[in-house]
Amino acid sequence: MAGRIPESFINDLLARVDIVDVIDERVPLKKAGRNFQARCPFHEERTPSFTVAPDKQFYYCFGCGASGTAIGFLMEYDRLDFVEAVHDLAARVGMTVPAEAGAGPGAKSGEAARLYTVLEQAQQYYSRELKDHPQSERAKKYLKARGLDGQTAAAFKLGYAPPGWDSLLKALGTTPEAVRDLEAAGMLVPKEGTGATTGQSRHYDRFRDRIMFPIHDHRGRVIGFGGRILEQGEPKYLNSPETPIFHKGRELYGLFHARKANRQLERLFVVEGYMDVIALHQHGVTGAVATLGTATTRDHLERLFRATPEVVFCFDGDEAGRRAAWRALETSLPLLGEGHYVNFLFLPTGEDPDTLVRKEGAGMFEDPARFTPLSDFLFDTLSAQVSLATLDGRARLVDLAKPLLSPVPSGALKQMLAQRLSRLSDLDLRTLAPMVGGVRAPSPRNDARKGRSTAPREGRSLVRLAITLLLHVPSLALRVERAEQLVRSGQGGADLLAELIAFVQSNPDVGSGALVEHWRDRPEGRHLQKLLAQELATPADGVEAEFLAAIARLRDLVHKTMCAELARKPLKDLTEEEKSLLRQLSAPEK
Ligand SMILES: [Zn+2]
Repeated sequence: MAGRIPESFINDLLARVDIVDVIDERVPLKKAGRNFQARCPFHEERTPSFTVAPDKQFYYCFGCGASGTAIGFLMEYDRLDFVEAVHDLAARVGMTVPAEAGAGPGAKSGEAARLYTVLEQAQQYYSRELKDHPQSERAKKYLKARGLDGQTAAAFKLGYAPPGWDSLLKALGTTPEAVRDLEAAGMLVPKEGTGATTGQSRHYDRFRDRIMFPIHDHRGRVIGFGGRILEQGEPKYLNSPETPIFHKGRELYGLFHARKANRQLERLFVVEGYMDVIALHQHGVTGAVATLGTATTRDHLERLFRATPEVVFCFDGDEAGRRAAWRALETSLPLLGEGHYVNFLFLPTGEDPDTLVRKEGAGMFEDPARFTPLSDFLFDTLSAQVSLATLDGRARLVDLAKPLLSPVPSGALKQMLAQRLSRLSDLDLRTLAPMVGGVRAPSPRNDARKGRSTAPREGRSLVRLAITLLLHVPSLALRVERAEQLVRSGQGGADLLAELIAFVQSNPDVGSGALVEHWRDRPEGRHLQKLLAQELATPADGVEAEFLAAIARLRDLVHKTMCAELARKPLKDLTEEEKSLLRQLSAPEK
């Protein structure tokens, strides 16, 4: 998602925003030397270990390791996604996010503000009509029959859209501007083929004679509605269309209420309908959300995992439910690991969370032993498709599992999935590991790569030192030439160092925080944040010398490694390129 907004814009934005102001508005900061401090908003603590460094435009916590830029802080603290955080920050410094950023709150902020206002008014109107409209009895009866109490209905701000073609239009569409905003917000539908001059309205209400479920964004603003029909008819549920502030593939019904009801969300249930979310809430399961008539998307999951470590998908246990669960599994795979867990809760056939919780209470939802871990669901489903008793069947299992395991990020979970596949298929882990990638397998010859083992200890700490210094003072990169050669030192992290240097060279004004920001979505991102969080042991006036010395030592290692490699070749076999490389290696830094 980060890719849609140009890097140069992110750099400019982070240069204009002051992270101290952004955080201080939410967590009051105290000056402490060059930095600012507070008690960490991300973990419980008595003494402040949360630090904001104005020179780095970066925050970090020595207690829990939280760290990041102003963008990262808004994502964590306000639970925004990347695009939303960028838009929030841009708005406060009066910058306009470039149009090619596309998705997200693409509306001009003036228009967005007007849409929030008319939707808020519509919600209040529908709530009043649920109370007062003579025809709302049927709506109330329906809600009562579903076991809903008044308190829950009020908490979710349920309402009623009266019958007739122009109830909302008459109530709120009192000026041409209001009509325009209601249409843009998806509440009015333009009539076809009516003239502008007849004086008659050219619009009608989208929602008529329906129970109205307002949909809230992360801040509790109304961004759309779902409407349930009262009589027989289609569609049973009607949702607001996509608008500049409402995107079905990103929003989750109930997330605002779940977060409001829980300071820490142990887990979130993903259910199918509005009524499932509300019924669960009323029975004490306050962490439930529903997608808005779409399958769960990657955007949804990213949002869920920002709010909780564990996602539990609830599906009917029948054939269709299992198929839908499998799609959810496939969407989840690339986001697993790093403290993210996915479970499934298969309900008895024909039940949904709403009916079940009314019949049996919350029990099934509160007992993790009833959940099916993703790994069980994955291997049980695949194993059922092959015969594990035969060699061919086990080979087929490997073929089926390979594309599913590959997208799982490296880490403990992936390792265990691979080990389980290895046991089931009888294929040894060493053979399997390269097929799925990112899995460690015991190597029979650990010392096989002698040529690359020149002073590995020193090399790794040199790379680490150089990266740390570079993160603190990005302009150091401008002193390095031919950084790509450092990769040939064979040291872990040298490729990252070379990449960081190249990035700064093409973005010479980039600051520390902004630099780290560009690695946010990469596996190395957390590591870089930690390095930037460290205080430098080197005094400011010695940083450059220390950095250049580290680069020079790395070049020595490159030189040695290359010489060792080239020395094994007869001189006559050296290419021109290799010869010139040898010459370059001995050239001094600028
Ligand atoms: Zn902390």
